[in-house]
Amino acid sequence: MSYLSNEYLVQIAQEYGTPVYVYNANQISEQYEKLKSAFTKCNARFFYACKALSNINILKYIESIGASLDCVSINEVKLGLRAGFTPERILFTPNCVDFAEIDEGKQLGVNLNIDNISILEQFGTKYGGSYPICIRFNPHIMGGGNYKISTGHIDSKFGISIHQIRHIERVVKSTGLNVAGIHMHTGSDIKDVNVFLQGLEVMFEIATHFPALKFIDLGSGFKVPYQEGDVQTDINLLGEKVAEAFKNYQQETGKELEVWFEPGKYLVSESGYFIVKANVIKQTTATVFVGVNSGFNHLIRPMFYDAYHRIKNISNANGSERIYTVVGNICETDTFAWDRTLNEVREGDFLVFYNAGAYGFEMSSNFNSRLKPAEIMVLDDKTYLIRKRDSFEDLLKNQLEVI
Ligand SMILES: *Cc1c(COP(=O)(O)O)cnc(C)c1O
Repeated sequence: MSYLSNEYLVQIAQEYGTPVYVYNANQISEQYEKLKSAFTKCNARFFYACKALSNINILKYIESIGASLDCVSINEVKLGLRAGFTPERILFTPNCVDFAEIDEGKQLGVNLNIDNISILEQFGTKYGGSYPICIRFNPHIMGGGNYKISTGHIDSKFGISIHQIRHIERVVKSTGLNVAGIHMHTGSDIKDVNVFLQGLEVMFEIATHFPALKFIDLGSGFKVPYQEGDVQTDINLLGEKVAEAFKNYQQETGKELEVWFEPGKYLVSESGYFIVKANVIKQTTATVFVGVNSGFNHLIRPMFYDAYHRIKNISNANGSERIYTVVGNICETDTFAWDRTLNEVREGDFLVFYNAGAYGFEMSSNFNSRLKPAEIMVLDDKTYLIRKRDSFEDLLKNQLEVI
């Protein structure tokens, strides 16, 4: 794995300032190659779920290595087209959007994934079977360790319940809808291959209701290791099992289906590094805080999902180890990590958060009127600034001073 070295990251921090996100594009293609080689025995396609990280340069890079794109908003679809993806390589999987947004996706010619019966009915009434669609199901499978990012369980707003299949069949029959695909996405951080396989069994059962079916989309949620000892999804095992299952299905039904996936985190998480500066070391009665020049406005995952990000002091990598609580500067509880062993941190040192490529910059905000960080892409040992740091003027952009 081509991890960027401490020295390289310090150099970037000095040159471009902090806080700064750094993405190593070559790590993205390594992940993509791993996926491809795990699924050579089935007819697989990979749609990068770009809500994880959508900088236009990253999208262009992912286009160049041959992956397709999964979008959850019409603007992501437009970014994808701008990055060079043909409509056929874009899958639009929105949730709770109005019919106009679905219609716009159709006008743009992308693959549509519809996740409620109301829209299904409207689409069928307007277009009949003239435009193929995919239906998003909720298989009622609880996957992943975090309720907030689990989407396949009974209380989830996502997809159409598999128990509503009769209703769907009615709509399809009445309107002549052309159902080319069925989809499930049970959420993030699924380490257990069996969760996917259980879901796949449910999907095969549903597949029998749609004779024109071309693909089954199993979504994503492949887990990546955030800390030492973390279990990750065994992609190779999954590849074997999925290929076997599709082969069996083909033998039983005579139908050869494609399998689609929508990896987000798996492709970009490890490519990302978030570098901050230690502003103050603050000894209290209970702990030693490192206060950094960032906060959950830049990296919300620890506060929002209780996510663990490995942290390293890259300017004093051989310093003696001490225990710290790493906090941000936002006026709220704003804790990145409790009781972390770090090489001694001095004011002015640079700390890096690893695995910051997915849902990092993408979920950042201007809370506390703080500026969003810059983004850097490293590609073939060259460094590119791909987003300027916000300026003060950006805070006022779109505000109208009326008094
Ligand atoms: C978010 C999302 C993904 C990607 O999930 P990861 O856990 O980042 O791999 C895939 N498909 C859909 C529909 C999503 O909403």
